[in-house]
Amino acid sequence: MKLYNIIGLILLVVSCNSKPGQEEPLQNNQDYTGPIIDMHMHAENDNTLPPDKLGLCIPLSNLVPHFDPKEAYADVWTNTLKNPNCKNPIWSSTTFEDYSSRVQKQLTKFNVIPVVSGSESVLRQWAIKFGDKIIPSIEFNLERDNLSADSLKSIINKQNIKVFGEISNQYAGIAPNDPRMDDYYAMAEALDIPVAIHLGTGAPGSPYMFSPDYVAAYSNPLLLEEVLKKYPRLRISVMHYGEPFIDEMITMMYHYPQIYVDLGGIQWAYPSEYFYEFHLKKMIAAGFGKRIMFGSDTFIWPELLEESITIINNAEFLTKEQKADIFYNNAARFLRLDK
Ligand SMILES: [Zn+2]
Repeated sequence: MKLYNIIGLILLVVSCNSKPGQEEPLQNNQDYTGPIIDMHMHAENDNTLPPDKLGLCIPLSNLVPHFDPKEAYADVWTNTLKNPNCKNPIWSSTTFEDYSSRVQKQLTKFNVIPVVSGSESVLRQWAIKFGDKIIPSIEFNLERDNLSADSLKSIINKQNIKVFGEISNQYAGIAPNDPRMDDYYAMAEALDIPVAIHLGTGAPGSPYMFSPDYVAAYSNPLLLEEVLKKYPRLRISVMHYGEPFIDEMITMMYHYPQIYVDLGGIQWAYPSEYFYEFHLKKMIAAGFGKRIMFGSDTFIWPELLEESITIINNAEFLTKEQKADIFYNNAARFLRLDK
């Protein structure tokens, strides 16, 4: 942060010294302060919040820096969250009341409209609490939900759901091109509803905890190729941009210009230097700045929203226009929001 401030100061001095008529340097270090669409927020309620307070330190990737398999990973993980090893951990709420008021504070403070993903019942609760201040998105897992495409369609219509996702089949070891998904993709294409699919990492060590069937290889965006040939009118957002398969994501964005990506919390999952240099900068450099959408992946820790906004604002290689695209314009276009 300090280095960033110093660079800002130098730019300011340079711009003060520039001669009249000389082009002003791009003020990349300015924060974006306009409205934000968060494409990736999870709806929690009393049934999904953990009973104990858990403290999160970011980045997530090195939360458990090493692990000896003589221990049980789930115990190590839980112990890490109960005894967070950083100065200012974010603590989870244990009640919906507290959680939703913290979420509301974040939304108001940063002028955020979130696409909120949850089950049918949780979304109903959120609709009562947040009204039309959120964009409802129906979560889906083929293994867990036991819901036909027709039943899903009637939920989408009845509850005025705007997005089909997060599709979290990867946690159940189901690939994006699994033929069992055909009916669902066909339904989404026919309804012309945007689809948001999880492709990327879960929690570190997730196969040893809540997702024994998780397949890291299914993060690969190339697995969507067959799907997009079969359903060319599908409006699809790759959540977590299929990280770390960044080159595969880039070739998919090149060949299938309808694909958008959402940053999906990867900004706090890895150290910023890595995220900036090898992911965000690379997608921007490849020319896809108009299809990258902000996504905080906020779940039991509401202030992940704030952390995520700060990390994107601190990316000094982004112009103000690129920040506005990521924070708002690209999602508004993808969702076809009215002005
Ligand atoms: Zn996800």
